[in-house]
Amino acid sequence: MTVEMKLTREQFDEVMVPNYAPSPVIPVKGEGSRVWDQQGTEFIDFAGGIAVTALGHCHPALVTALKEQGEKLWHLSNVMTNEPALALATKLVNATFADKVFFANSGAEANEAALKLARRYAFDKYGEGKDQIIAFDKAFHGRTFFTVSVGGQATYSDGFGPKPQGITHIPYNDIAALEATMSDSTCAIMIEPLQGEGGIISPEPEFLSKVRELADKYNALVIFDEVQTGVGRTGDLYAYMGTDVTPDILTTAKAIGGGFPLAAMLTTNEIAAHFKVGTHGSTYGGNPLACAVGNAVIDIVNTPEVLDGVKQREQLFRDGLNAINDKYHVFSQIRGKGLLLGGVLNEKYQGRSRDFLLASIDNGLMTLVAGANVVRFAPSLIIPEADIAEGLKRFEAAVAQIVTA
Ligand SMILES: *Cc1c(COP(=O)(O)O)cnc(C)c1O
Repeated sequence: MTVEMKLTREQFDEVMVPNYAPSPVIPVKGEGSRVWDQQGTEFIDFAGGIAVTALGHCHPALVTALKEQGEKLWHLSNVMTNEPALALATKLVNATFADKVFFANSGAEANEAALKLARRYAFDKYGEGKDQIIAFDKAFHGRTFFTVSVGGQATYSDGFGPKPQGITHIPYNDIAALEATMSDSTCAIMIEPLQGEGGIISPEPEFLSKVRELADKYNALVIFDEVQTGVGRTGDLYAYMGTDVTPDILTTAKAIGGGFPLAAMLTTNEIAAHFKVGTHGSTYGGNPLACAVGNAVIDIVNTPEVLDGVKQREQLFRDGLNAINDKYHVFSQIRGKGLLLGGVLNEKYQGRSRDFLLASIDNGLMTLVAGANVVRFAPSLIIPEADIAEGLKRFEAAVAQIVTA
């Protein structure tokens, strides 16, 4: 900027496409789990940029990784490979079921790759007609036209013309519906191993096992969308590790870049072989800057200290939220896993999750919603205990404000 510009929230409505409704504050600085706005007002961050800033804001190791790579090499595109991408892919392969990695820049792109790969695999192996994608009501898989159509909220995909075909939605956790829907024409089942945007809904353990069993029976692939649950969020590096099910394809984004755009699709040798040269690609995918940061994120998150710490912090959140609820009676349930938790609003507060988010901001706290009836918490995996305590105090003030209004 050559001239000093005064930047205000009002300008958003003037110069930005109106597809978002951002809150009135404009944060300008973050450190750990604290954020400051233009006026210097401090916020505790229980939102984590929607489960993205898994190591808080400006973690020194991530800043160093970005700076060092920033002075070496920014971009080549995929006409050449690069060291950070090779290192990160190796770490992901070593840490998971996967043999192969495809890098992208967002959750939607990783899912788009997963869906295209599943379709291509079925086409190559079984011929035409094996193209049914089974997905779940309320699921969220991103906003490209394919992924939003696989997602389970028609309001997000209606009104854009003819939709991609061959997609069937069934209720989450409904084994009978799954059995009734699967057939030899099923290509893949795409599922979040804990629904995030849909309202923090956990799978019943036997449901995931049934998904695996039926997929095997009908030669269909299991795609786990771990864009939100991945990279330590549930207390395991990936949520599938806390279940007895292994997917065929897994997608990861959000936290893997710690705030820098990065995503990956992981799969096995056998399936990966069907993405032959030229079948798919991305200009930025595997960009050295993004992967340099991703390496630092994985190095830190994939340690017992951080993963066990998630479980300890989950307990602090549950205890604190339950104590607030004992006093104010706003939630019917606290659900979720690790540091992906949802307070489910009871009968009296139906449809008001955004009011809780706004009241939290009034009290110096950033939270999230997951639909109209769930207040969502997705803080840094390493949020200090003192910040949890202070944030819960501010949340209590926000709840009190709503209850006594
Ligand atoms: C956020 C999210 C996505 C979409 O990720 P983008 O980076 O916004 O494209 C996909 N799946 C799940 C489960 C998510 O939570």
